[in-house]
Amino acid sequence: MRSRRNNPLSIEVVNPIAVEIVTEEVLRGILVGRLRDRVGGMESLVDKCRSLIEPRAVYAFTRVVSIEGDEVTLESGHTLKSIVLGDVLTRGQEVALYVVTIGSRLEEEASRLGVSNVFEAFVLEKVGDYALSKASVQLRRLVENRLGVPVSGFGPGTGSGRLFGIEQQRVLFSILNPLKNIGVRLTSSCLMVPRKSVSGVFAATLNEYVACKYCPREGCERRSRPFAGEYVPIRFRNAD
Ligand code: SF4
Repeated sequence: MRSRRNNPLSIEVVNPIAVEIVTEEVLRGILVGRLRDRVGGMESLVDKCRSLIEPRAVYAFTRVVSIEGDEVTLESGHTLKSIVLGDVLTRGQEVALYVVTIGSRLEEEASRLGVSNVFEAFVLEKVGDYALSKASVQLRRLVENRLGVPVSGFGPGTGSGRLFGIEQQRVLFSILNPLKNIGVRLTSSCLMVPRKSVSGVFAATLNEYVACKYCPREGCERRSRPFAGEYVPIRFRNAD
């Protein structure tokens, strides 16, 4: 990680992010198979979740000043190391760095419930995933409105971590200071606390990038696209 602080960034905080929890939508994702019989009382549980989530985000726009292989240097002087970012970004391009969270209260309650009521703890976890996903979409829209084009999202450690390693969290955190700004810290193994947090880079790309396409993990219930095999860099694709 290089850290030549050439150009101080304007760090923005969104607190709170407006997230609408639509009960029917949440329950549709949870109550599948035999769980459909357990709909009674679920509305009040979802209401409880609403009171426990605290969606917020910190983000900053910056430009790419140079790309050498998998090293992408930003105008802030920081360098992100990533095979996929080095491949799809271009010099001079504006990108957004971000961390989004729903806070720790919901997951603390899920842990507490896990001792006495595993099903309710499961529901809280699922509502947390749903709320975090919605908060991320809200931030993505904000970035797209500012850039005027659709963006792809790149998260350190997603998939196998080969294309954008989880250790690159340290670069994002050194830029955005999420602990001070939205209460998210990084562990020594680069995991975020609270767990219900996501981080990454939003950037316009020629073709939409979706990490799931290059992630071989089997049985992932959050998979959004089928596995398409190893990532092939653009220069090799064009050579075909
Ligand atoms: S398949 Fe699952 S683990 Fe792999 S990138 Fe997609 S959501 Fe993440």
